[in-house]
Amino acid sequence: MMVNDCIRIGLEANVTSLKSLSSKAYHNLADYDAPSYYKLCAISRACGVLASRKKSLKRGIYTRSPYAVKPQLVSCYGFKLIDNALRVPLGHHRFFRIPLNKYTQEILCDPALRVRSFTLTASQMSICISKEVQQIECTKTAGVDRNLRNITYGNEEHIEQYDLSKAINITKRTRKIVAAFRRNDVRIRKKIASKYGRRRKNRISRLLHCATKTIVETAIENREAIVIEDIKGIRKLYQKGNGQGRRYRSMMNSWSFGEVQRQIEYKANWSGIPIIRLTKGETMGTSTICPICGERLLNGRNRMLWCISCGMKADRDVVAVINQSRRGRVRFARSLPTDKGAKGGAVEAVMGNPTTTVILGVDALKLSHQKT
Ligand SMILES: [Zn+2]
Repeated sequence: MMVNDCIRIGLEANVTSLKSLSSKAYHNLADYDAPSYYKLCAISRACGVLASRKKSLKRGIYTRSPYAVKPQLVSCYGFKLIDNALRVPLGHHRFFRIPLNKYTQEILCDPALRVRSFTLTASQMSICISKEVQQIECTKTAGVDRNLRNITYGNEEHIEQYDLSKAINITKRTRKIVAAFRRNDVRIRKKIASKYGRRRKNRISRLLHCATKTIVETAIENREAIVIEDIKGIRKLYQKGNGQGRRYRSMMNSWSFGEVQRQIEYKANWSGIPIIRLTKGETMGTSTICPICGERLLNGRNRMLWCISCGMKADRDVVAVINQSRRGRVRFARSLPTDKGAKGGAVEAVMGNPTTTVILGVDALKLSHQKT
């Protein structure tokens, strides 16, 4: 109710900034019998809602006047973690205890963590934590190539592939199951379909979590900065009217590459591994150019690529990953004069092994052997 009051006031006065909204709305919330920090959080939430509305209007998207439907309680103040429980204040020295399970207790007992806020909804509680992370000094780079059937990670020295074909099967099967529903009632059909959708999402996300976790662990072990390509706009390749079949399009669009990137990024940030995001221009041609001589590669069977001028033969994903890691390394070297302070370790490392020697050190045999 407080959030909706704030939204109403914000809409009337046409304000979206936190400062002006709090000066306008705070006094109107005096009637609510709640601790003042909840009022502040309500104002902040209303402010977020109003800001995103403003953004949509700016882009010309039709928006109705916003209204917070789901009850939720957010606060960064007043709560406490004691006796394996979260103690939520209700005002007037009254409290409400939410017991924490063993896993949460284990996570939260880490002294490096700071608990910042909690969010309470009808069915869930989330606790927001933060940590000071020491950047790991990386001496190498390694690329991540996201494909429909696998994620490939590595550089010239090692290549690892994580099979994701199971994810495709899960999606296919879910679609088949949902298509086979013969219930006439739309509401019930929707309910069951959403249940299967949830199941699919959970199963796939578990697969992806396993892969990304191992990738980040390998990166920490080898002290490698992770290089990620820019594949923005990939969905445009599989739109209606591009001359592809429905099945094919739905398969390509069920590909959760954004989720993979999100997981890798947050896991890397959490453990202090630097991430290098290649721009669109830098990503271009990573899977068509020979990593040894720079010649354009020819397509072979089974996603194999081969080079006419030096005879290199390698898997498409392996080539992409090696090229990516190399381009990332170039970026490392380029960042030398600009941010010396922030990436001191990386800069020193790059000066130790310059890019040219690394390229010379690769040979064709090694590439095709290390594919597995
Ligand atoms: Zn070549």
